[in-house]
Amino acid sequence: MLNPGYTTISKFLIQQVPEEPHGRELAALLVDVAAVVKAISAAVGKGPLLGLASLAGSENTQGEAQKKLDLIADELFARGVEWSGLVGALASEERDEVHFIDGNGPLALVFDPLDGSNNLDMNLPVGSIFSVLALAGSDRGPGAVLQPGHRQLAAGYAIYGPSTQVVITVGRGTHGFTLDREIGNFVLTHPDIRIPEEASDYLINASNRRFWEPPVQRYVDECKAGVEGPRGRDFNTRWVASMVADVHRVLLRGGIYLYPRDQKEANREGRLRLMYEANPMAMLVEQAGGAASTGRGRILDVQPERIHQRVPVVLGSRAEVERVDRYHEEFDKGDDKPYSSPLFGERSLFTNA
Ligand code: MN
Ligand code: MN
Repeated sequence: MLNPGYTTISKFLIQQVPEEPHGRELAALLVDVAAVVKAISAAVGKGPLLGLASLAGSENTQGEAQKKLDLIADELFARGVEWSGLVGALASEERDEVHFIDGNGPLALVFDPLDGSNNLDMNLPVGSIFSVLALAGSDRGPGAVLQPGHRQLAAGYAIYGPSTQVVITVGRGTHGFTLDREIGNFVLTHPDIRIPEEASDYLINASNRRFWEPPVQRYVDECKAGVEGPRGRDFNTRWVASMVADVHRVLLRGGIYLYPRDQKEANREGRLRLMYEANPMAMLVEQAGGAASTGRGRILDVQPERIHQRVPVVLGSRAEVERVDRYHEEFDKGDDKPYSSPLFGERSLFTNA
C-alpha cells in the first residue's frame, strides 16, 4: 500500500520546479518523461522475451530484435511528450536532425532514449538520459537547440537496473526516485544526493590507455601506483561500460568517471555526446556537489555547434576532477612531471629494455 508519507515524483516536481521560466510546463513535461520511463522500463524488463515475441513468424535474429529497443525507446519518448503542446523541439541520438513540432511549445527535449544498449544482451543495466532547454522566442532554426549546458532547465536519467530509478535536477539539487512497480509511481528515495568528497574509485576504459593524452595517463598511472605512488593510497577500478550505470555509481559512491579524448580516431573530440549525454550528467553532478570538465574547461560552458557533437568527459568528486584539470593545464604549459613508477620504468621487473 502507498504510504501517504511518500513523496511521489509529481508532488515533488510541483513543489521543486522554480516558477520562472516555464515552471508549470517544465513540471508537466517531467511528469510525462517519468511516464515514458515507466514504459521503457517495462519493455527493457522483458529482456529476451520481447525479442521472442517480435520474432514469431519473422526472420530476424535475436540481436536485431533487441537492437530495435533503441528505436522503440525513441518512439516512446516522442509519443509520450509530443501530444502535450509543451515541447517545440525534440532531438535524439536516434534522429539525424532536430525535429520541430508545430505549435508554440516553449521547451526543447534532448535525449538519449536508450544508453548502453549493448548491455542488454547480458542483462546488465541500461538507461535513458534527457535534458530540457527553453526555446528562445519563435526561433525554430537548427540553432535554437544549440545552447550550452548551463542553460538547461532540467536534466536527468533513468537507470533500468534491479530496480528502475530516475535521478533528476531542476537546478535545486539532485534527487533520486525509485519506481514502485506495484503502485506504478516513482517515489523519492534519494533526496539531495551529495557526491562524497573522498573516494577511491576511478572509472575508465583502461584498454585505451595508449590512445590517451599524457595528463590522463599520468592521473591513471598515479591511481594504479596506489600506496607506493604519489597519491599514497590505493584506488579501485570500476567500469560497467554503460554511462548511466557508471555515473550513477559516481553520484552515490563518489570517485571519478573519465571518457577522455583519445587518438584512436584522429581528431575525434571524445566519444560521448555533448547535448544528450555529457550536459545532463554534468548538471546532475554539479548539483550534487561534484564537478564535470572536459579536462580543459567546464562541460556546461561548451558552446555546441552540432546536435551530435562529441566531447571529452571527466566528472565526479570535485577534488579528483580538479586534479585532472590541473594535469591538463601543466601538460599544456609544458611543465608537468608525470609520475614514473619504479615497477613500470625502464629498468623494471617486467621489461629488460
Ligand atoms: Mn548513450
Ligand atoms: Mn543510445
